[in-house]
Amino acid sequence: MTNTNLSSQLPPLTVAGRDALVREELARRAAASVESAKVDALVVFDLNNIRWLTGFTGSAGTLIVRRDEMVLVTDGRYGEQARAQLAAAGAAARVVVGTSAAALREGMEQSLSGAGAVAVDPTEVTHAQYETLRGQTSANLVALGGVVQQLRRRKSSAEIARMRRASACTDAALAEVVPMMSGRPTERDVRDELEYRMRRHGADGPSYDTIVATGANGARPHHRPTATVIEEGHLVVIDVGALVDGYHSDMTRTYLIGEVDPVLRRMHDVVRESQLAGLAAVRAGMTAGDVDKTCRDIIVDAGFGSEFIHSTGHGVGLQIHEQPWVRTAMPEPLQSGEVVTVEPGVYREGLGGVRIEDLVVVTDTGCDILTASPKDISCLQLAPTN
Ligand code: ZN
Ligand code: ZN
Repeated sequence: MTNTNLSSQLPPLTVAGRDALVREELARRAAASVESAKVDALVVFDLNNIRWLTGFTGSAGTLIVRRDEMVLVTDGRYGEQARAQLAAAGAAARVVVGTSAAALREGMEQSLSGAGAVAVDPTEVTHAQYETLRGQTSANLVALGGVVQQLRRRKSSAEIARMRRASACTDAALAEVVPMMSGRPTERDVRDELEYRMRRHGADGPSYDTIVATGANGARPHHRPTATVIEEGHLVVIDVGALVDGYHSDMTRTYLIGEVDPVLRRMHDVVRESQLAGLAAVRAGMTAGDVDKTCRDIIVDAGFGSEFIHSTGHGVGLQIHEQPWVRTAMPEPLQSGEVVTVEPGVYREGLGGVRIEDLVVVTDTGCDILTASPKDISCLQLAPTN
């Protein structure tokens, strides 16, 4: 079952220079606004942002990005791991380990000493973390949203290589599992086979809770797999992705089982046309809102507008859902190197649903599609019962 193409070496992930990008972004914002003019440090609480900046994957840590240095404050469980991971990723950061609550507090106080103003992203701290931070520094705390998230949007070639690998693991697993559906498995059977096979193909695990939704269950976009059996006349929505070295993939295909209601077939045709048009619309400079509109117009014109009940796509990276958002009226232009999904869908209560989703890298001339599973609408035939 092991595919040798899926076990070759991935290029090393380096984070060197990302701290400089944060300082540039802080300076850019300072130039544009009075509040952030005097920020001396950014305190990063979000673990994905910390990972992106340092390579650290532990479950507890706070990162301080100062003008002259970066300091990662973590607890006694992670000292050795942090030093090793930061060195491997090329992060220019000092590690401060606190082996007690008092030592952690002291580590934070020292790391913030002398700062006049300290920025915090209000979307990544709880109220309790904010209050604690206020007790650890006399600096003026400034709310500054999305500094690191913004920088994470454009992926390096090493990051894209991981998402390409994750997509290939998913494609390989799906190719093995689709024929099994003729044997009338349950939704859970299909999920279990997919997750097992993605791991066998080299994934660290599923990227999110795999969705297998057959028949009427398909009308719920985020249905959880149940003991429902795949039967004649169903559409089966499978939304599946793999995780490779912290990076996610995301793909959806919808399969027709035997003879299906003409309305379901029509829904599949329309969603497929919409999804292909969306893929054709993606390129650097195109706004995310225009990609959404391209997909949505086709579905609206076909009379299914009110049944396309979610946005067209989202960014993917260290998180399964991250910036940029491919939503109605998003005015931001897509940039080359961003990785986004294109996933229109139509859902009819009591009957079923269709969603088709690919993961793509935005390029100057279009996009590079990472997910390769076929989208043809030939019906799967169930094996005869006897
Ligand atoms: Zn998905
Ligand atoms: Zn998605």
